[in-house]
Amino acid sequence: MKRILVTGGAGFVGSHLCERLLHEGNEVICMDNYFTGKKHKILHLLNHPYFEMIRHDVTMPYFIEVDEIYNLACPASPVHYQYNPIKTVKTSVMGAINMLGLAKRTKAKILQASTSEVYGDPVVHPQPESYWGHVNPIGIRSCYDEGKRCAESLFVNYHAQNNVRIKIIRIFNTYGPKMEPDDGRVVSNFIVQALQGQDITIFGDGKQTRSFQYVSDLVEGMIRMMNTGDDFTGPVNIGNPGEFTMLELAKNIIDLTDSKSKIIHLPLPSDDPTQRQPDITLAKEKLNGWEPIVPLREGLIKTIDYFENLLSEK
Ligand code: NAD
Ligand code: UDP
Repeated sequence: MKRILVTGGAGFVGSHLCERLLHEGNEVICMDNYFTGKKHKILHLLNHPYFEMIRHDVTMPYFIEVDEIYNLACPASPVHYQYNPIKTVKTSVMGAINMLGLAKRTKAKILQASTSEVYGDPVVHPQPESYWGHVNPIGIRSCYDEGKRCAESLFVNYHAQNNVRIKIIRIFNTYGPKMEPDDGRVVSNFIVQALQGQDITIFGDGKQTRSFQYVSDLVEGMIRMMNTGDDFTGPVNIGNPGEFTMLELAKNIIDLTDSKSKIIHLPLPSDDPTQRQPDITLAKEKLNGWEPIVPLREGLIKTIDYFENLLSEK
């Protein structure tokens, strides 16, 4: 039995990951400061004999003995990461230093949840891992993008200098059940708006694209990456290459919810990337043929179901 630490474990992705790791017979320690995470996402795990919850902020060091660390702690929605941008940088950078220090002392393997945002507003399309990106270092998204880029640098340097066993994945837009209704990201916003008959808020003309991955495909990719040999550190893209405009996403959601909501256009936030699509050649090669298996409409149906239940409870 492995003892595994998941930072950000009470968040959207982290809660799915904790569930899956427990299910596979591991001991799981979930660490979170509840900035965007919620106890209700992990409540059903609290009685599990091999699950523990620690309220702790990753910007502070922590001492514990573990075999593996999944470092997910960091707000991921623009609304939340821009709320306190200095704290966002500290979470990515000091959080990486503290968790890498822990990995160094315990000789644990450590996986960093990096992001497609390291590519910024990409001029290479689709994005392979070899692309260095196009990020505005002083823009409103930089606290997140540059924080994650610095964390990648820390990871590769702890590997080179201290032989820490690292894994870096670059996650592309992921959605699914257990997102919060007020998360602020596009899929949850559109679904909640459609279900409540509110206007669907498209930022800009809606022609910008994203490639949406269902959460179970991400969790599968994360675990496969953690289980690769020590010689493969990544970074590796984990995302679904199916690319859609925000207009197409809105229409799909209106259609699937049978909603009467109207589409309205609001100003596009600055530095909003115009296009995004992962090249997953490397992931397929290194992660035993891993590729996403849940198509957008199927994933949306499950997510709509989740929000329908959640909103009817309120
Ligand atoms: P989320 O906001 O639901 O989860 C983040 C979790 O980290 C929350 O539980 C939050 O409370 C916790 N956290 C934040 N700051 C912390 C701190 N200082 N100390 C301890 N805990 C802290 O977001 P998510 O979608 O679950 O994202 C999880 C990770 O995956 C993040 O690192 C994010 O950058 C990365 N990621 C996600 C996506 C996506 O589309 N979901 C895409 C790219 C990368
Ligand atoms: N977006 C939108 N309406 C919303 C929320 C987001 O049109 O209510 C757009 C946003 O401008 C961006 C895309 O949807 O172009 C994805 O936004 P999200 O915040 O989900 O992720 P990110 O921009 O970080 O990829």
